[in-house]
Amino acid sequence: MRLSLVDREDPVLRQVARAVNDAGSKRVRELAEAMDELRVEAGGMGLAAPQAGISERIIIVEVPEDEWVGFPEVPSFPATVLVNPEIVWESEEFIKLPEGCLSLPGLMGNVVRPSAITVQALDLEGDRLTIHADRWLARVLQHEIDHLDGVLYVDRVEDPHELWRVERVDVNDPVWSCNPQVLRLREELRRQQPAEPRLV
Ligand SMILES: [Zn+2]
Repeated sequence: MRLSLVDREDPVLRQVARAVNDAGSKRVRELAEAMDELRVEAGGMGLAAPQAGISERIIIVEVPEDEWVGFPEVPSFPATVLVNPEIVWESEEFIKLPEGCLSLPGLMGNVVRPSAITVQALDLEGDRLTIHADRWLARVLQHEIDHLDGVLYVDRVEDPHELWRVERVDVNDPVWSCNPQVLRLREELRRQQPAEPRLV
C-alpha cells in the first residue's frame, strides 16, 4: 500500500474521522505501516490518517533524537501508532509554540495549548496504551488528534500576526547561531561545498 498526502482543500481534512473497530488487525497494521512511510518521506513528526485521505482515527507520532524546537532539551519518543486516541487529562498550564503541518505547506503559526496531557489509545496489538506527555510530544499529539476531528492548527491561531509564511531557510543567517541542528547542518554543508553558501 502506498499513500500520499491529500490536497489542503480536500474535505477529508475537515471531517470527523470514524473510530477504528479492528485495531490489532492486519489491515490496520498495513495501513499504519504505509502511513509511517509517508510520514518519514514527508519529513513530519506526526501524521494522522485523514491527511492521507483516510477518515479513520489513527495517528503516528515520533519525536526524533536531538530535535530542536525551542526547549533546552526535548526527550525523544519512538515512532508510535495510536488507534482511537483520546485526551483524558490536560494540564492547567498552557504554552504557546509554533506549529506547522504537512497538509498546509509553507505556513507556520503560534498555537496555545495545554503544556501536558494524558492520552489513552489502542496500539497495533489492540491493547490499551496510556501516554503521559509533556513538552513537544504533548504538542505533536494534540496537533494530530485535532486532525481526527477535522481541526487544523490554523483554526487555533488567534491573531493573524501569529501565522506566517515560511520560505526556505538560510542557515547562514546569524539568527540560527543558537540552534544546534543548524550548526551541525552548516558544518556539513561547509564540508561538502566549502566555497559557496547554500540554502536548505
Ligand atoms: Zn497537521
